[in-house]
Amino acid sequence: MCGIFGFVGKRQDAGVVVIEGLKNLEYRGYDSWGVACKTEEGIVIRKDVGKISTVDSSQFTKKCSLAMAHTRWATHGGVTPENAHPHVSCDGNIVVVLNGIIENYETLREELKSKGHVFVSTTDTEVIPHLIEEEMKSEPDFAAAVRRACLRFQGRYGIVAMHADSSLLVAARTGSPLIIGVGKDGFYIASDTPAFLEHTRTVQYLDDGEMAVTDGKSILFSTIETGAEITKREIAITWSVEQAHKGEFDHFMLKEIMEQKESITRAVNQDEEQIRTLAEAINNAKGTFLVGCGTAAKACMAAEYFFSVIAQKHVNFAPASEFKLYHHFLRPESLLIVISQSGETADVLEAMHIAKSKGAKVLAIVNVEGSTIDREADYSLLINAGPERAVASTKALTGQMAVLILIAYALAGRLPEGRKLLLETAAKINDMLNPRYVDFLEGITEKIQEREHLFIIGKSWHYPMALESAIKIQEVSYVHAEGFAGGELKHGPIALIEEGTPCITLVGNDEVRADILSNTIELKARGGFIIGIAPERHEVFDEWIKVPEAGAAQPIVNIIPVQVLAYFLAVKRGKDPDMPRNLAKSVTVK
Ligand code: GLU
Repeated sequence: MCGIFGFVGKRQDAGVVVIEGLKNLEYRGYDSWGVACKTEEGIVIRKDVGKISTVDSSQFTKKCSLAMAHTRWATHGGVTPENAHPHVSCDGNIVVVLNGIIENYETLREELKSKGHVFVSTTDTEVIPHLIEEEMKSEPDFAAAVRRACLRFQGRYGIVAMHADSSLLVAARTGSPLIIGVGKDGFYIASDTPAFLEHTRTVQYLDDGEMAVTDGKSILFSTIETGAEITKREIAITWSVEQAHKGEFDHFMLKEIMEQKESITRAVNQDEEQIRTLAEAINNAKGTFLVGCGTAAKACMAAEYFFSVIAQKHVNFAPASEFKLYHHFLRPESLLIVISQSGETADVLEAMHIAKSKGAKVLAIVNVEGSTIDREADYSLLINAGPERAVASTKALTGQMAVLILIAYALAGRLPEGRKLLLETAAKINDMLNPRYVDFLEGITEKIQEREHLFIIGKSWHYPMALESAIKIQEVSYVHAEGFAGGELKHGPIALIEEGTPCITLVGNDEVRADILSNTIELKARGGFIIGIAPERHEVFDEWIKVPEAGAAQPIVNIIPVQVLAYFLAVKRGKDPDMPRNLAKSVTVK
């Protein structure tokens, strides 16, 4: 699920390259690291628990032109040095890293043990080098043995393997992303492009069920199923190296929050004809379903309101992980809209496959061009937010919502009006996110940073934003935050409000304004410390965070100050907002 980065080619510093490159994938969240370098003295392996950022790559300067490194986000087996990758075969010659899960590893391990293989870890991963070793007994061709081993794996995985007696790097995938960077000096294989962006911006995407074998001079793609050769296009990446770095900011999260000054405009700049075609597809569909995970799921949920309020159109929302249960309602005339920042989210991919198996069409809204979801969808819209590296999604969310609002206006036959509203909103956000505003929000954080519980309420399209606010605060600051529909409070949760409990209320100048304000007054009456995010002041607010008036785009505007509050809450509580515990950026396991 986390990071893989391998290199083979002319360079002599492959050890340093893979470790430094993997540091660029740190944002994905992980618990251990490891590296394997093929040197003149054989394969050297180092691995440990902890952060790869602390690893001094100068200890890997030995002449080496074949190496791979891994960051592990443990799924099977504890976080220990033995369980860190790479894993090796009994003879130590076959070295493997894995992202994902080998689901049938228990059966394979028993089978391999009965053949005399000795296991030293408790991971699922370790069956891979042993199975390749076993396969090589019948036919010693390394790459062919990797392919035969893959045929036996169940689960979702991305594997990179090397052999002490070979100069090949072998990669195979089913479910977890692997991208080939085509360099002048060799081939880079990584689970995400920032690993190699500074070396090359020409890529080839490995698809599910495919493998790649390279000796650093050329690369051969084939299917895992039959071994039949396939040809791949080379694609140029548009993201720049600078976009993928923190620059003047202390953290990616703050950088990406501030980038919303421009990213929303980029999201709105869609081909109008394409948006109209998509709106027509939604209009003609017999049943439209929106699915996503986490923050993207909140964008989907907000879209239910956008489509209803702006276009009087009913759509169904489900978290992608729950979508399986909807399959009864899918037919060839149905439409599935999937939203994913990375374009690799496992649950979303599964939902897509369910829909496709029923003949339904899939529209994707993604950030990463060339990602699996982008490529597999029938229609795909890019939000063009640029690389989002903080685990907590910020600019991707507002980009997703901007695109959804645009589609809602197109559905209503008022696309130019929607475009105008969003572009004006983007300009207002540009003004809002000035240094004084950010300082003001930091000051508010100081008043609530010691509190362990925090509640957020919203109504209509601000209800999903209340849920999103809770995710944002939970994931980076570890404060217990909960979001509610304002009207639900008095049916239970209001019992939790005590003197001074921070309560954020999301208010717009819309048809539910009076309702949400009375819900806020109910909180205040129980002692709540009220932080109002609203275009206009109200006497119930203890703190007023002023936001510009933005009509149907109000949820985009109102969520931004919460992102800033979440960021400062994390920093002031001594947490690293870019690397929250237990989380990973691109969730490629179910
Ligand atoms: N399932 C493997 C393990 O726990 C790989 C986890 C990962 O994707 O990092 O070792």
